[in-house]
Amino acid sequence: MQETHTILNFIAGEFQPAKNGATLDNYSPRTGQIYGSLPDSSGEDVMLAVEAAHTAFPQWANTPVRERSQILRRLAQLIGEHAPFLATVESTDNGKPLSVAKSIDIPRSQQNFEFFADAIGQFSGQSYDMDGTALNFTLRSPLGVVACISPWNLPLYLLTWKIAPALAAGNTVVAKPSEITPMSAYWLCHLAKEAGLPAGVLNMVHGQGQKIGPTLNTHPLVKAISFTGSTETGKKIAEDAAPLFKKLSLEMGGKNPNIIFADSQFDEAVNTTLRSSFANQGQICLCGSRIFVEKKIYEPFKSALIDRVRSLTQGDPLQPDTQQGALVSKDHLEKVLRYIDLAKNEGGRILCGGERVFFDGPLKEGYYMQPTLIENLDAFCRTNQEEIFGPVATITPFETEDEVVEWANSTRYGLAGSIWTENLSRAHRLARRLDSGLLWINTWMMRDLRTPFGGVKDSGVGREGGEDALRFFTEVKNVCIKT
Ligand code: NAD
Repeated sequence: MQETHTILNFIAGEFQPAKNGATLDNYSPRTGQIYGSLPDSSGEDVMLAVEAAHTAFPQWANTPVRERSQILRRLAQLIGEHAPFLATVESTDNGKPLSVAKSIDIPRSQQNFEFFADAIGQFSGQSYDMDGTALNFTLRSPLGVVACISPWNLPLYLLTWKIAPALAAGNTVVAKPSEITPMSAYWLCHLAKEAGLPAGVLNMVHGQGQKIGPTLNTHPLVKAISFTGSTETGKKIAEDAAPLFKKLSLEMGGKNPNIIFADSQFDEAVNTTLRSSFANQGQICLCGSRIFVEKKIYEPFKSALIDRVRSLTQGDPLQPDTQQGALVSKDHLEKVLRYIDLAKNEGGRILCGGERVFFDGPLKEGYYMQPTLIENLDAFCRTNQEEIFGPVATITPFETEDEVVEWANSTRYGLAGSIWTENLSRAHRLARRLDSGLLWINTWMMRDLRTPFGGVKDSGVGREGGEDALRFFTEVKNVCIKT
């Protein structure tokens, strides 16, 4: 693939600029400089993409499952073949360490297509025998045109997590990647074309969500919207789409608790907490941003964690040994720094970090900040209740299970959490009591793609993954035959 910095929409199998010719600047978080452009699409581009997807739908829906799977498997293979290129693209566009893009983002994007290429072959309906008097069975059919809207933190990973099941199930897609990280989505379209995906089956419209989103959300031919992003945007999409009775899957914000009991494996808990709070600069929806540690081990745990946070190598995302890269944008960096000021005003004590980092040379204007650990904050203060989504975690001692469950459950969110204990009964008890769509015991972010993925409360509606995703992207019909 030839490197280019001019991103185009992909509609009806053709790469094209926005119809009105408008573009947006694309910034590299690594340098803080403009390094390319993307279409500043309008509703007209969305309309064209939906029409292309609508035209392509009947043929794709009637393509035998085996053939659809073969194309998706070929696409997965191409992602694998171009993995080094795609990892560099993702790191440059997002600011994440190249090592993270290489080990997480790109392999998982490949797996998403592999997984759903296989899963659709195993997807089956139900049948219910009514004591021999009648037989019910269910038929599942694709919905038609579906919208897949994704955020900037794991750009290709989360976009393909939606596109793969949607296509596997026989739908055609209009995708809207984040305008902050559009580059890998652009390359995905090249690979999709090379893999033999027919024109119009996958369409990619770039641009500002608030500008083109409403056209996509309310288009009568769009039958379902699968969204991952902030709770605020999810609410807007729901407001647009609910009166039109579209199917909605909303994966939204989080403020995840990480609960560490004194009987946990100390070193493993410290090492994984470091990762679960600061991986990808804390910009993973599953990151634990509130660390609660049982009082008995609070001081040793805190000092071990501070040592580990201070030892993280921060610098150029493209250098192989970098562990902390840049934050995704200037706006986001400024937002995170405002939360550091808020934490201080709320009485927080900065244990390490807390400042913007300026490097010399080409990285001078990049969006870097120190990974930050804060203590001495009340569980109910704004810093501990609002999503920061950066390299910032709070650490708080607790004494009883009841206390920590109350604090963990106190936010509007309920996406994920980690519990660290060797006490099996306690692990089971807490797993039931915590308001969360996903829980890990003595680990973090161990993912089996067959399992339901999603949040409760303001973190989400619906589930992705495995059969849940295939059910979402299909309509079910019950047929009852009298025998
Ligand atoms: P965002 O909500 O600002 O944007 C997400 C996407 O929605 C972008 O593509 C954007 O262009 C689009 N968009 C914006 N307004 C729209 C509208 N009115 N209609 C349709 N689309 C619109 O989120 P972000 O800042 O890109 O991502 C960070 C957020 O995503 C955080 O809140 C994080 O917790 C969340 N997130 C959640 C999960 C999860 O699985 N629950 C995973 C990753 C990120």
